[in-house]
Amino acid sequence: MTFDWLIVGAGFSGCTLAERIASQLRQTVLLIDRRPYLGGNAADALDPHGIFVHLHGPHIFHTRSREVWNYLSAFTSWRPYQHRVRALVDGLAIPIPFNLDSLKALSTPAAFKSASTLLLHAFGDGAEIPILRLRRHRDPGIRAIATFIYEKVFHNYTLKQWGLPPDQLDPSVTARVPVRLSRDDRYFTDPYQAMPLDGYTPMFERMVQSPLITLRLNTPFLEVPARQYRRLVYTGALDELFAYSRGALPYRSLRFDAEHLPVQRFQHAATVNYPNTELFTRITEMKYLTGQAAPGTTIVREYPQPHQPGVNEPYYPIPLPANRDLHEDYLADLPSLDRPVLALGRLADYRYYNMDQAVARALALFDSLPGRLRT
Ligand code: FAD
Ligand code: UDP
Repeated sequence: MTFDWLIVGAGFSGCTLAERIASQLRQTVLLIDRRPYLGGNAADALDPHGIFVHLHGPHIFHTRSREVWNYLSAFTSWRPYQHRVRALVDGLAIPIPFNLDSLKALSTPAAFKSASTLLLHAFGDGAEIPILRLRRHRDPGIRAIATFIYEKVFHNYTLKQWGLPPDQLDPSVTARVPVRLSRDDRYFTDPYQAMPLDGYTPMFERMVQSPLITLRLNTPFLEVPARQYRRLVYTGALDELFAYSRGALPYRSLRFDAEHLPVQRFQHAATVNYPNTELFTRITEMKYLTGQAAPGTTIVREYPQPHQPGVNEPYYPIPLPANRDLHEDYLADLPSLDRPVLALGRLADYRYYNMDQAVARALALFDSLPGRLRT
């Protein structure tokens, strides 16, 4: 049989597009993934100790987009959840994003009073300021506070995570976690934040349950004969698609180290960051994320690593101009393939997407499909 579409990658991007093509166009889809499970990096499962874990690090769903929220709500109910993160700094567990309570914890009362007054006067109550902007402020007093925060929380964490200091990366990376002039200690402030009630994997199963979608796991793209499909959607990395003809696109990888402990709770927040100590960046205790009640607990440490194709996973595109240029060059190669190819997703777009952004991108791409691909 020839499928109308082959979709490579069964993560948020691939599952969303498969679902749209099947339900809206009534066309057939062969959805493949080389991994043995659905869901891409958002996949979850029971670990050997009966604890629900996220297989590729903590995944918290949050969005400002009503459209994305409504779309996914057709496939899952939700459990309201607010993610809270602490960082261990100078032996103290301080709120992250760095807020007024973090400043207070690390300062003498007099230093806190003068620093908070200066910041609130300059930016206003409740402001959220990216650390790199704070460091460039014209007031030397504010720059001194920025340097203090930078060194306590951002510099070493970013070196560990990316192998580069914050100012050598696109400013959008550290702007994800701005300095916050309030006591709000939620990690995300989007209006919609929740976890799929019975997990991500069941949500993906419902997204692809149409009889028009054939799911094949453990299936790398190169194993699918070209005669089996008319059109291609590709959500993997473009350098791999072109056999690294222009060189490897740089990604950052992680090693996840899970440990099961015979205690109810290991730590006082879902995630604890270790900016200045340890080789890992953070520890996440999965039970906070999933809401599971169980006598034991599983924690996951994240050890950043350079990406080596074929050895570990390309988790983070590294947003630097030279890398974006190389990605553009690979994009320009797409029309040289033997049939229409749509490339999307965190890997193929080479963009630091959150889950909702991957869904929004897939929905927008579907809406913009030209008429000739809709029949
Ligand atoms: P992916 O999930 O990467 O899926 C791509 C799939 O394609 C993979 O399953 C891969 O196996 C498959 N594939 C690739 N090449 C081939 C091939 N040649 N043949 C067959 N299959 C192939 N987002 C949030 O919103 N909140 C969070 O808290 C959050 N935490 C994160 C934590 C970590 C550690 C990481 C790495 C990401 C996190 N994200 C988070 C981002 C989130 O994982 C992504 O936005 C989302 O998974 C992107 O979906 P995708 O389908 O584009 O890509
Ligand atoms: N960051 C930091 N210290 C922290 C938390 C974050 O320096 O305690 C920086 C770091 O560069 C990190 C970026 O902010 O890569 C984005 O953090 P986020 O938690 O959004 O990263 P992700 O969950 O995507 O790994």
